[in-house]
Amino acid sequence: MPLDEYKRKRRFEETPEPPPKLEKRSQHRFVVQCHRATRLHYDFRLEMEGVLKSWAVPKGPSLDPADKRLAMQVEDHPVSYFDFEGTIPEGNYGAGTVMVWDIGKWEPLSPVPVDGEYVPGTEKEAVEMLAKGDLKFRLKGKRLNGDFALVHIKSRRSGSKGNEWLLIKKKDNDVVPGYDIEKYNTSVLTGRTLAQIGGDEGSAEWTSSRPAARGKLKAAWLADAVARADRKKAASKKKVPIRKRAS
Ligand code: MN
Repeated sequence: MPLDEYKRKRRFEETPEPPPKLEKRSQHRFVVQCHRATRLHYDFRLEMEGVLKSWAVPKGPSLDPADKRLAMQVEDHPVSYFDFEGTIPEGNYGAGTVMVWDIGKWEPLSPVPVDGEYVPGTEKEAVEMLAKGDLKFRLKGKRLNGDFALVHIKSRRSGSKGNEWLLIKKKDNDVVPGYDIEKYNTSVLTGRTLAQIGGDEGSAEWTSSRPAARGKLKAAWLADAVARADRKKAASKKKVPIRKRAS
């Protein structure tokens, strides 16, 4: 079953992560989650075949084609993981803080370029490219845009699990030479930093009563995700007990 590994690794009575549920339809969304676990890394996920195909990218994605980012394929995640942001408690798989770093739509590209340019491909082509280990796709996100490839590599390391891929930006108008991912350290859903999400000691509290400035949200599905995040935030605020003033 597609989400068995996801299920096996987690205790759902302890983690706030969503349960394993296979979706019938895929909307071709993508998410990049910044995950401060044992080590900080970025989880890159493409919605496909009713799940989120997932890779852990230690250095995070880049818009510079010179950066070939190691991407370790990990277990498929349920589609509802798409807007998961929060803290996975100590002692659980992936314990640490998760921030939604980017969100958007993706489309498969045809494996063969036309006049040196990649053109949109079909779902069937995407499935075949993934199986072959050379998936080409186009992202339309808030931070990541343009053409990319995920290429399965044969590792020379002994003990390699065969799950190593490279995430590579293709040359196009969205290239940013010397791309610095650390310039972008807030959630695209809630505007919070990892420290604010994790409630780190000394970090500024998230006190704004209004949603963070996010610019215009053109896509309805994105507006939905943001509205859900806002409702969760409002609900969690209500749970905080009001301190009695010392009389
Ligand atoms: Mn992770």
